[in-house]
This record gives sequence, C-alpha cells and structure tokens, in this order.
Amino acid sequence: MRNTQATELLFDLAQPGRRAAIFPESDVDTAAASECIPAEFLAAAAPELPEVTEPDVIRHFTNLSTLNMSVDTHFYPLGSCTMKYNPKRHERLAALPGIGDLHPYQSEDQLQGMLAIQYEMQEMLAEIAGLPAVSLQPAAGAQGEFTALLVASAYFKDRGENRTKVLFPSSAHGTNPASAALAGFECVQLKDGADGFVDLVELKAHLDDKTAVFMITNPNTLGLFESKITQIADLVHEVGGLVYIDGANMNAILGVTRPGDFGGDMMHYNVHKTFTGPHGAGGPGAGPIAVRDFLADYLPGPIVSRSESDTETFTMTTPAKSIGRVRSFFGNVGILMRGYFYLRTLGAKGLREASEDAVLNANYLKALLEDVLPVPHGNHCMHEFVASASDLQKERGISAMDIAKRLLDYGFHAPTVYFPLVVSDAIMIEPTETESKATLEAFAETIRKIIGEPAETLHNAPHTTPVSRPDDVRAARKPILRWRSEK
Ligand SMILES: *Cc1c(COP(=O)(O)O)cnc(C)c1O
Repeated sequence: MRNTQATELLFDLAQPGRRAAIFPESDVDTAAASECIPAEFLAAAAPELPEVTEPDVIRHFTNLSTLNMSVDTHFYPLGSCTMKYNPKRHERLAALPGIGDLHPYQSEDQLQGMLAIQYEMQEMLAEIAGLPAVSLQPAAGAQGEFTALLVASAYFKDRGENRTKVLFPSSAHGTNPASAALAGFECVQLKDGADGFVDLVELKAHLDDKTAVFMITNPNTLGLFESKITQIADLVHEVGGLVYIDGANMNAILGVTRPGDFGGDMMHYNVHKTFTGPHGAGGPGAGPIAVRDFLADYLPGPIVSRSESDTETFTMTTPAKSIGRVRSFFGNVGILMRGYFYLRTLGAKGLREASEDAVLNANYLKALLEDVLPVPHGNHCMHEFVASASDLQKERGISAMDIAKRLLDYGFHAPTVYFPLVVSDAIMIEPTETESKATLEAFAETIRKIIGEPAETLHNAPHTTPVSRPDDVRAARKPILRWRSEK
C-alpha cells in the first residue's frame, strides 16, 4: 500500500532545534568562512534548511521512493520502451572491483581485461546485427542515430556526393527526424500505407540522387515486421542511398533475422532496452552502432582491436577518417557491461528464445484483449501491439488516457498512449518476455474490468496516487521544484 505521508514536504516535518549528528567541540584552530572564502562566493545568509532528525530524513525519502512504479515492483507494459526485468546478477557483475573500480585514464596495459570485454561486446553486436563494424561510444539510441548519420554524411562527402535528404515513415520515433535535423539533413516524412507499412509508391516518389539515408524501424512502431524490407532496401540502394535500421525493436528478432541480412547498412542498439539496463526517466543508456565495412573508417574512436600476433592483447584505435568522439572515454560503460553479461548469460540460443517468448507474450496478450480493445493493423504482432480506444471514445467517452491512468490504481504501470500517431487513441503494449502467463492474464482481466467501469470513475483516475492528473504540459515545462507549503 502507498504511504500517503510521503506526500508531506520535509519542511512540514521540521521542528526548531532538531538535527542529526551533534559533533563535539573542535580542538583544532578554526577560522571563519569569511577568512577562507572570497566574499563574492559567500552567501548573504544561511540557507533555510528544514530542521529534522536523521530518522525523519531517511523515512521521508524512503517513503517517497515507494511512490514510483518500477520494473522491480510492477508490470510495466510501456510500448516501444522494452521495460523488461533487469537481472540483479548483472548489476553485481558490473560492480566487481576489476570492472567497477577501473579508471579510463589508466594505461592500456592495466585495462586489458576491460578492453577484452569491450572487444567481445563489439564482436557479439556485429554478429547479431549482421554488420561487421561496431562503435560502442553513443550514450543512447538517439545518439546512435545521430552518430550513424554523421558517419553517413562523412562517407558521402568523401565520395564527393551531395546528398541532403533523410527519409522516414510517419510512424517513425520522434528521435529519427530529430537526429537527421541535428546532423544537418533535410527531413522528409513519408505517408504510411493504409496497412501501416511503408508505401512503396510513396517511397519511390521521394527517392532520388539527393537521398542520403532512409531510416526505418523494423519491426515498425506498430509491432509489425515490414515484410517488404528487402525490396525497400533495394529501392534505396538503387538511388545510392543508405538504409538505417532503428534497432529499438531488436527484442523481437534476436537470432531470428539480422538487419544486415535484410538490407540495413547501419543500425543502433538500445542496450538498456534489449539487453537490460535499468532505464526510464531519461537514462542511463547505451546506443552502440553497427555499420557495413565501407563505413567502418568513419566510426568514432576509440574502437578496441585485437593484436593479430598476440590474441591476448587489445589496443584502442581510431579509424582513419573518424568523425571524432561523440562521448567521453568508452561510452556508458556501466550499461554496456550489463548488456555484455546479459549476452553472455543467455548465449545465442537463449537470445533467440528471449525474442520468441517476447513475441509469444505480446500475441497472447493481444488475443486476450482484442475483443474489447481492437488492434487495427496486422493479424499477428511481433513483440508489441498497438490497440485503439477509438470506439470506446466515440461510444462512451472513455479515452486511452483514462484507461492508462486507471491502471495505476490497480497496480500496473500505464502503457504508452497516443503513439504511434497512425492509430487513433493508440494504446501501445509491450509485455516483454520476462512476464509470466499469470501476470499477462491479470493485466488483461484488469483492463476488461476498467472498461466496464462508469466513465466518470475513469475521467478523474487515478484515485490512489498522491497526485492524480497533473497538466502534462505544465508539469513538464514548469515543474514545481522548490515549494514550501503554507502550513
Ligand atoms: C527508445 C527509442 C528510440 C530512442 O532511444 P533512446 O535510447 O531512448 O535514445 C528510438 N527509436 C525507437 C523506435 C525507440 O523506441
């Protein structure tokens, strides 16, 4: 049960004279702050901090920490985010002193173990992608996109080609056009076909010798595998463009098919999604990229190479025409390590099983819900599906948001809503392979129960959380970060 006391502010708990530790009088010489610190850096008055005891502070913040939902506490079917359970074993392994206590400024000979791990990680990611050259540097999927587009840009410049456009379907994740614009390209959004797939006629109409890259997520954001992907890639290649695979949905296809095999020239991984790294609320992440051999020379450094004469020795190298660094040192090593241990724990067979179970779970949940929440596109889905609350909205005034918010009262994290835009009143559900049949059934039961509730009950849900429905825009743009209640 939630502890509503945690909604009190620390200031409300304050009593004059309360404090934590009381230190004995100092028996060494002391000097006033004004004697040691230049006046311009001194505050005019002491900060108004709440006077509280140590247990007050600990209980306050521990209770606050229980108000949030997490993968460790609740089912988290957040579509497109792959919020699977993160095994604790990998946390421990990543924290082993030989890994956790290293410093990137240590010399190469002291870092051989870490470099060996990174080398293996590069090799495994290349194998899973079907693309031979890997950079571990980018700190998240979005930065991976940006980095790969800079690589493409350098490649075309080197060939003396002036290609200015990046194309993507309208169902693309918002980071695709954002990365393209930041990398200096003109963004061209293609209308999706009525079936939710890329419309080949529309694609052909926009392909020309100014096309640099076509970005595509496969399976797409509707959770459907683009069955015409090789045809799409051929069309892009015919005009001399490159195909970028947004790898955020790799959880559906690990060990089953590979972006390099179905026509991709570049891709990013979201290690924190697919290979488990605790994420959410903005990080941390790791977004390594894999590219074809002819793009390898432009990758950011350092890349870890293995000495040919002595296979136990690893060195850091920077590719000949590198675009430069995109992240300090080796990237987000802590997340890369968790991903590495995930890959080593599961092995090739286990990875494929994880994807197969993710797809099975999504299809099972879809089948349990389809009669009350229709799924407009596709008969079978991959690792996620996008249902529509459009009928409920028209008939009973119940919105996707109403359902999402009411789920919080029943102890489920809300799914992604209103994305992708190609489905009206979208509810995007990704259960992941780590959930049991019982959890999926309980979730489906709860959705059915919610849909049976009076619309008024749903409009102002959630009813059990300390804050019910903040104004989304204002809460994001004008958060109240400092507030002293009037009591
Ligand atoms: C999550 C996601 C991204 C962005 O990845 P980050 O690691 O959050 O930067 C890009 N595309 C798709 C389809 C995603 O789901």
